[in-house]
Amino acid sequence: MSDSQTLHWQALSRDHHLPPFTDYKALNAKGTRIITKASGVYLWDSEGHKILDAMAGLWCVNLGYGREELVEAATRQMRELPYYNLFFQTAHPPAVALAKAIADIAPAGMNHVFFTGSGSEANDTVLRMVRHYWAIKGQPAKKVVIGRWNGYHGSTIAGASLGGMKAMHEQGDGPIPGIEHIDQPYWFGEGGDMSPEEFGVRIADQLEQKILEVGEDKVAAFIAEPIQGAGGVIIPPESYWPRVKEILARYDILFIADEVICGFGRTGEWFGSDYYGLEPDLMPIAKGLTSGYIPMGGVVVRDEVVHTLNEGGEFYHGFTYSGHPVAAAVALENIRILREEKIVERVKTKTAPYLQSRWQELLEHPLVGEARGVGLLGALELVKNKKTRERFADPGVGMLCREHCFRNGLVMRAVGDTMIISPPLVISEEQIDELVGKVRLCLDATAKDAL
Ligand code: PLP
Repeated sequence: MSDSQTLHWQALSRDHHLPPFTDYKALNAKGTRIITKASGVYLWDSEGHKILDAMAGLWCVNLGYGREELVEAATRQMRELPYYNLFFQTAHPPAVALAKAIADIAPAGMNHVFFTGSGSEANDTVLRMVRHYWAIKGQPAKKVVIGRWNGYHGSTIAGASLGGMKAMHEQGDGPIPGIEHIDQPYWFGEGGDMSPEEFGVRIADQLEQKILEVGEDKVAAFIAEPIQGAGGVIIPPESYWPRVKEILARYDILFIADEVICGFGRTGEWFGSDYYGLEPDLMPIAKGLTSGYIPMGGVVVRDEVVHTLNEGGEFYHGFTYSGHPVAAAVALENIRILREEKIVERVKTKTAPYLQSRWQELLEHPLVGEARGVGLLGALELVKNKKTRERFADPGVGMLCREHCFRNGLVMRAVGDTMIISPPLVISEEQIDELVGKVRLCLDATAKDAL
């Protein structure tokens, strides 16, 4: 592609497009990156640079780019029935077949799915659903949902409120009433002198304290990602989830495991809840459900919750594109491929152990204070002093490192000074070598600038 085409698209972007999560001041100062094609785990930009996509788009392209079967599934469905809605007791084959396919892989006792268009809509749905649930049970005061600081549950007003991103709350007067937050289990950043295990218990106990502070009779649910993704791949200490489970068992509240990132194989299990042995009542899903080829989300709901919802009659909730037939056909094909090619098992037994052992080698690097990961998720903490975990002074080095990554043909995301990866689940061991090699190169370049 010629430079003039790149300039043309950049000008269109600058003059007409308001992109998500983008610094609009910087947008006008420098040219937008234009991505034009993709295959497998690679992207190409408009200038012909080949880039290893270690983020699988936005944590979603689990099958990798260019799977013709998904294209064909969409085309077939568009010809057969491109659209029909599911309102007022209507169904179509792709939506109901998909609901069954999800029930088959979901944790035991979770056999129903409410479809949405995205992960954010899934979280809007859970907020309305849990409040409706308690109202049906004769406890309408149970409305409060407890989330976690630095958790991410989407960008709609409900998603942003359930999430704990303070910068998002500041824009638009969040969180909405009835949402409370507790601390995240981020040992490296916030654990101080405590051991990870001690810290995990301490942070889990905040859930109980919050339930008691608000009053059990007012708390509807606790929402959490099994592993916080957008917050910086925060992997809880081993003591955290068992303690949270104990607390949840003591109180009559629902548990929402946001599986938008962890779902569909990311941890080497179908769901993050399987990885940690969690027993959620509701699971928001999206992203890997269609490998990102087409927008779709949903909420997987436990049978007991469905029984109560049934007693409540009509649930006044739904989206024009709930269970969209084309998206459902793509999701069905996506799940078929994940199952038939045993991709989740391959992550668990081969690529995740390989990535994690290579990832640990990066701990030798002078900039890296911690290298952590689960499945095909990874994070590196960049620090000035490895022993004291001292960070670089503002503005830090994460963005610098991210720029070096782009220059070296690698997409890696920076959350402050935490560098994170989440590559397509189909990445090979050879490509993992390439990824780790590139990361090392970028860390060296960053260290040269920073140390
Ligand atoms: N929940 C989690 C855990 C996410 O990571 C995201 C998106 O990154 C969402 C919800 C929101 O999903 P969407 O962007 O599809 O609305």
